[in-house]
Amino acid sequence: MPDEGRLRRDLCEIGRRMWMQGLVAATDGNFSVRLSEQHLLATPTGVNKGFMSPDEIVKIDMGGSPVEGFTRPSSEIKMHLAIYERRPDVCAVVHGHPPTATGFAAARVPVPTEILTEAHTFLGPVALVEYATPGSEGVPQALARHVKDHNLFLLENHGAVAVGSDLFQASYRLEALEQSAKIAITARLLGGAHAIEQGELAKLQQIRRELGLLPSEESCLAAGDSCGRPEPDETLVARITELVMEALGEERKVMGAG
Ligand SMILES: [Zn+2]
Repeated sequence: MPDEGRLRRDLCEIGRRMWMQGLVAATDGNFSVRLSEQHLLATPTGVNKGFMSPDEIVKIDMGGSPVEGFTRPSSEIKMHLAIYERRPDVCAVVHGHPPTATGFAAARVPVPTEILTEAHTFLGPVALVEYATPGSEGVPQALARHVKDHNLFLLENHGAVAVGSDLFQASYRLEALEQSAKIAITARLLGGAHAIEQGELAKLQQIRRELGLLPSEESCLAAGDSCGRPEPDETLVARITELVMEALGEERKVMGAG
């Protein structure tokens, strides 16, 4: 079973990083992580996520009811539960209102990850989730329609949700989504991004498959103590970059030879 104390500290650390980057403001955002088959740890409602302490983190059951702690989870925890219920490979859910990506959500325009090699590989497609009242059952219902095939979700007129096999992977995905949204805007100002051709996108999809970045049916808890594993994606990001550069290098050689 993952180390509860470490997961509590990780939730605080993720909150601090996200607040510092402006991905959550004021008391925005909520994050959770699987502790076991029966329990989750979640951030408390009404608290600035940049300044949480481990004892403020609330332990809840899979129905969303607090079982330990003096705080309450956000009403938005319902969307976390809808994800955990359908995705055994997800051990962490991170929700925030990153300003550029949320601008896309407000415009109801998907963030185009397929215009960037690493975003297409590491993030995959971003689901645009139909508007529903925050905190209502409508949000998990709308999200549930996309949850099997995506790791990132833009909630129309609201914000963004990222999932991962651990807290760091989920938060990196949210960070990278915001970065991709900024790049997409810049490309648009410069006349629009050039599309990566279909054959190249297929190669990147293959890399994505080889690296185990596609949604799966395998339980993240079965993988041992992965939920609290510190920052596993730094090596993963390096490996993705290496594979993408290799693939592009081969392509250049072929083009040069022709
Ligand atoms: Zn929200």
